[in-house]
Amino acid sequence: MEYSTKIAKIEESKTIAVSAKAASLKKSGNNVISFGVGEPDFPTPELIKKAAGEAMQKNMTGYTSAAGLPELKAAVINKFAADYNFKYTMDEVIISNGGKQVLFNGLAAILNPGDEVIIPKPYWVSYPEIVKLAGGKPVFIETQKANNYKMTAADLTAHINNNTKAIILNSPSNPDGHFYSEAEIAALIDVLKNTELFIISDEIYDKLLYDNQQFVSLVQQYPELKARILVVNGMSKTYAMTGWRVGFGFANADWISNMAKIQSHTTSNVNTIAQYASKIALETDQLTKIIAERRQVFQQRRDLVADYLTEIPGLEFIKPQGAFYYFIDISALLGKKFDDKILNSSLDFADVLLEAVKVAVVPGVAFGMDNFIRISFALNEEDIKQGLTRLADFVEQLY
Ligand code: PLP
Repeated sequence: MEYSTKIAKIEESKTIAVSAKAASLKKSGNNVISFGVGEPDFPTPELIKKAAGEAMQKNMTGYTSAAGLPELKAAVINKFAADYNFKYTMDEVIISNGGKQVLFNGLAAILNPGDEVIIPKPYWVSYPEIVKLAGGKPVFIETQKANNYKMTAADLTAHINNNTKAIILNSPSNPDGHFYSEAEIAALIDVLKNTELFIISDEIYDKLLYDNQQFVSLVQQYPELKARILVVNGMSKTYAMTGWRVGFGFANADWISNMAKIQSHTTSNVNTIAQYASKIALETDQLTKIIAERRQVFQQRRDLVADYLTEIPGLEFIKPQGAFYYFIDISALLGKKFDDKILNSSLDFADVLLEAVKVAVVPGVAFGMDNFIRISFALNEEDIKQGLTRLADFVEQLY
């Protein structure tokens, strides 16, 4: 029996061993503090849940058009226009099962065998595997601490060749919360505008930007490049709706119709009830206040984490400007021992940390950088304090 060689090249999640261990420790009664979470700890706002109930009562339970419920598409377009002063048309938007499916469909619609997709490090864990699944080859850019781990125009130029088809940008970023300023983006666009590369702009954390910084969508800043930009966004992070699976993509009509073809023969439409509830969410001004309040809470937690981390020798970090993660450099601690176990990699670090003090973190290798760990601050302040105190104790015991 032989399975697909394409799938054989897809890596199993490097984080699975640690999260499975965390889950089993929890199950057997251990008080595990998990910094692994990639979703808001807040519940979905009441109003959205109520709208889902209404959808069912109204029997909105059948299929919708595969590319999305027209009323939701209209709401997504209007919200984007209100936020970013850029108006897409109905055939330039698709509703998919999370930003993740937008990314997959978007890449599958443009890639041919041998095509390369540029991904700067650190990257969101799924980008390289989605590129491979969609038939392309991921090409990584190493970034430097001096540039706050953001790629420069020179980095980008050095990685473009005749096979390069696309680039993935993610700002604010998972895993390190970096955010490209308008000037930094301008320098990259100076390079990209002389190419025909497709530009995938993952803007899923647009509403989680701190210190009163203003988010600008890539297409708003560069409308002349609209034909080759795919903007990725969704309900997951902004509206605490990760499990509802509603994402959206904006691009030119050809790109979207090719994405819709893939979707119509694979998953079809996103759950109709979730689509209806998302429409209500996007049209309701009341939620803007809740989103702003939650952002404020995240910002306070971000500052709290910085206060604790600064006190732990051997850890280096750059304060995130957006999203809800710290990407912590553990280089100074690698090679040290805990209880006779040598910590040679981010996986070793995460594994021994979990065993010793029952704190779960994500090893940096999952994001392409093995001398880092990622912690999320989407958990309450008490847990953050308790977890970071345990981390400090652990680090102190290394020799
Ligand atoms: N992009 C980034 C950078 C993410 O961190 C995530 C989720 O973790 C996604 C996209 C996909 O989110 P969803 O598929 O829930 O919309």
